Amino acid sequence: MAGTNKARLLHGSHKEKMTVNVPALSFEFFPPKTAEMEKKLWDAVLALSPLSPHFVSVTYGAGGTTRSRTHATVKRIAQETSLKPAAHLTCVGAAREEVAAVARGYWEVGVRHVVALRGDPPQGAAGGYAPHPGGYRYGCDLVAGLKRVADFEISVAAFPEKHPESASFEADIEYLRKKIDAGATRAITQYFFEPEYYFRLLERARSAGIAIPIVPGILPIANFAQMKKFSAMCGASIPLWLEEAFAGLDDNPEKQNEVAVRVASELCQKLLAGGATHLHFYTLNRADLTTAVCKNLR
Ligand code: FAD
Repeated sequence: MAGTNKARLLHGSHKEKMTVNVPALSFEFFPPKTAEMEKKLWDAVLALSPLSPHFVSVTYGAGGTTRSRTHATVKRIAQETSLKPAAHLTCVGAAREEVAAVARGYWEVGVRHVVALRGDPPQGAAGGYAPHPGGYRYGCDLVAGLKRVADFEISVAAFPEKHPESASFEADIEYLRKKIDAGATRAITQYFFEPEYYFRLLERARSAGIAIPIVPGILPIANFAQMKKFSAMCGASIPLWLEEAFAGLDDNPEKQNEVAVRVASELCQKLLAGGATHLHFYTLNRADLTTAVCKNLR
């Protein structure tokens, strides 16, 4: 990234712009595949950095398919901006030594925060998960392994509507506790559209004695049809009112964006009113929707 970009990002550093009564924000990006996507990603990073995120995270493709691209993106954020990057890392398709090598690579370039996940098989969750013969089985095992490599700050996943493979909400909470016992200090939730789902998770966690921050994951809907497809795999339900809000808008992207911003803003407002102090945005490498939602919140 050019030096001028660095200056712009430094200007947006959270140290200079921290405002009281504003929720902490974090933004999730995915590693780009092409030069064109790379430009889009950096445009989004630059556009969102004045919102002074607490951290920005970069996902790890299913089955470790983006290992080098995730690393390159995280490294670039660490070295060329004043933003604090978090690298997603999964158990899928890698032996423990390989995972440790990736983690050491992050530590060496100054990355101190990992979002540790089990991951899903490359063909999607429906394909059935099987651990790598020499690898980690569950998220909690990965967290413990990462802590053996270095004293990373570790965030993990939580599921307001239950993980699709979990037998019960109680089991989900138990496995969340295992991740915390192994060293995780923050949970970030799967996206959801009804605030009650988040508050229900929070209540269950708190009554089980889990005290770490559980940060709601917010998805401003960039493409309703795609979101619907993905939701079927990750276990997020689509309420009827949401279907209705997007009905008939397939050929009207402007109106779709307007609805997406309204829906996400209302959700965030309810979460903040209910006590949430940190919002994590799934940006899909787009700045416009997330920026508009954050503006509505201020
Ligand atoms: P786990 O905590 O291991 O849970 C997986 C399943 O196993 C659950 O059903 C759980 O109940 C069960 N389980 C857990 N521990 C045990 C145990 N000890 N004994 C028995 N059963 C157990 N995926 C990617 O591939 N790349 C990403 O970058 C990525 N980023 C994500 C970011 C966030 C914020 C979220 C919420 C999800 C992300 N995912 C990502 C998806 C995630 O990998 C999947 O949802 C995966 O299916 C579950 O991951 P986990 O870490 O919660 O797994």
